[in-house]
Amino acid sequence: MGASSKKKGKQRKAAARKALSAEASGGGVSSSSISGVGVSSGGINKIVAKVRSGDNKVMKKLLNASGRANLSLVSYEHSGILSVVLEFLNRCEDETYEEVMNSVGGDLKSPLLWIRVLVAASHVEPSSKLQIAKNIGPLVRCMVNDTERRFFKSNKHWKEAILKFFNLVANVIELREKQLESMQIVEALLQHEGLLRFIIQMGFWREYRPDIVKLLKSEGMTFSGTVLDSRVLIDILVSGMEGESRIRLLETIGTSPIVNKEYNSACMTSCVAGLVCQLKDDTLLGTPYIKEGNFIDQRKSIFGVLQRLVIEADCVDKGFIIELIDLGTNYSSHHETAIYVALLSLEMIHQGAPEKKQLRGDIISDTRSAFAIREGLIEMCLAFIECFSKHESFGEDGGLYEHIKQVFRSIYLVLLHKKTAKAITNKRNVIEGQLVCLEQNTHITNKPKSKELLDMVRSILYLNGSYCCRCNTTMSKTEVKQCNGCHRMSYCSKACQKEDWLNGHKLACCKSHTDETAGQFQGRVLPLIVPEDERSAVKLKELETNLSMIQLKLFLDHTDMILKQVKALDIPLPDCFVHFDLLVIPPRVEVESYTDLFDNPEQISRFEEMRSKGNITCTYFSYFYHGELKNRVVMQRFFPHEWLMTKKS
Ligand SMILES: [Zn+2]
Ligand SMILES: [Zn+2]
Repeated sequence: MGASSKKKGKQRKAAARKALSAEASGGGVSSSSISGVGVSSGGINKIVAKVRSGDNKVMKKLLNASGRANLSLVSYEHSGILSVVLEFLNRCEDETYEEVMNSVGGDLKSPLLWIRVLVAASHVEPSSKLQIAKNIGPLVRCMVNDTERRFFKSNKHWKEAILKFFNLVANVIELREKQLESMQIVEALLQHEGLLRFIIQMGFWREYRPDIVKLLKSEGMTFSGTVLDSRVLIDILVSGMEGESRIRLLETIGTSPIVNKEYNSACMTSCVAGLVCQLKDDTLLGTPYIKEGNFIDQRKSIFGVLQRLVIEADCVDKGFIIELIDLGTNYSSHHETAIYVALLSLEMIHQGAPEKKQLRGDIISDTRSAFAIREGLIEMCLAFIECFSKHESFGEDGGLYEHIKQVFRSIYLVLLHKKTAKAITNKRNVIEGQLVCLEQNTHITNKPKSKELLDMVRSILYLNGSYCCRCNTTMSKTEVKQCNGCHRMSYCSKACQKEDWLNGHKLACCKSHTDETAGQFQGRVLPLIVPEDERSAVKLKELETNLSMIQLKLFLDHTDMILKQVKALDIPLPDCFVHFDLLVIPPRVEVESYTDLFDNPEQISRFEEMRSKGNITCTYFSYFYHGELKNRVVMQRFFPHEWLMTKKS
């Protein structure tokens, strides 16, 4: 940073000033066109000249309601007054107010009056908004620096001007009818570095900036409950944007820190997490504010912003997950809050913005789901069922039941993925305890929808756990012995590992597996999809390991159901295909004859050649991570059919 960049900055400012003066004189010409209606053209020029010379009286008149009435036909924009004022304000970084006044010989009381002119102009002459948005760079830079707090190099002026400045920003970005114009204005405003962050952080001053709150109190100003709420501004800003720019804007907002780093470098809380925190404050929630003449519940407004940030732009971080679940667990006595929390929880564990989701299929994040479960997502949902299942709208469209069901279903789909499986294992006892309690409560179990949700959690717990691939013994994580060849089969003991190896896994383990040996053994599963990259391969392997551990358990636990279906089909056991569909809750078990599964004779004879007379083919459908077409995984395993009778645990 040398003198040259400073010089460049000065040149840039000089150029900007020149451009503004040109606009001002241009404005002077156009003002003659409206002169016939009220104030004469000469009169207007006189007013502009007085504004230019920093005359206090004329400015007062311009801003005073009755004075405005007298001069009501003078346009701030067309007369050139606006340009003159902007020109003055552009000196706020480099000069003191006294220096500026001395240079024009004026007696204007305070620079606040200039900001008030901009506020008035943006209010009564919407066409002036773009010009203002483009030309308030220095003003923005001064005002958003909330640690130095200098305006015309003075703390006093900053303090006086801050709320009016906020007022101005609000006026400028207020929604316009023409979308294109709105976007231009919002874009022009956001070019000023730090403004967006400032707007966001202002919404958190009450909680995080006692220094500023104290300062403003000394001026008789307070923040909470005013129309000029940071969230409303964010809301309007976002509404003014479309497409990619809108998503980018949302991403920037969601991830912005809620406190100025200059003030507190330790606070890492993001805007999304901070907004959730605000919902815990009941005093805030009690005060509705007015927007476009309507009272709006603050809670709804915060949830509105959150919904955009989380659903549209996928702004989810650890802080957000922690705060949301804490909110749901400890602060949700309101039914409506519970609905919002459940809805956001669902979105939170799905990764990707909506259009991305469409491209890659509905992606449930193993990482996020695991983190949320550790933070208490499942317990929170169970508590919602306990508190609100009696509520009249519980089972209605968009009601709590629907959202909770979606959350449970999403967890269910990734519950065999590594991180989620571990998280559920960790939480198992707590969830189990809470579930048992609810299962004994007939007020809840009498209602089919509540019962259904409890059963879903049962199924989640059922499919979680480590079982020996050979003997189906329950294992703790430390007891698991994995096959050294494929690292996909887990055993309770060396003996089981050896037995499995000699009875078929030797042929199936990845080292020696070929198509020809498929069906000849009970052993390793056959993944029927090819992972598209390294990361998918790792994910798939993790899924396969966990899936292997429950295959025998599923097979044995459903013995009666399988035998019953076999009997109904009236076919010998070796002709059976048993399908386990883990995409539905509880897992669906279906038995089919191989002659029904394959429709061309070639496939049928190929299968007859390959199969072993002693084994039943089992297929397991489960959920995988990538892509719309590949999100189902089908794995095969073969079990000796006498196991149906003998290994029942
Ligand atoms: Zn074993
Ligand atoms: Zn192996």
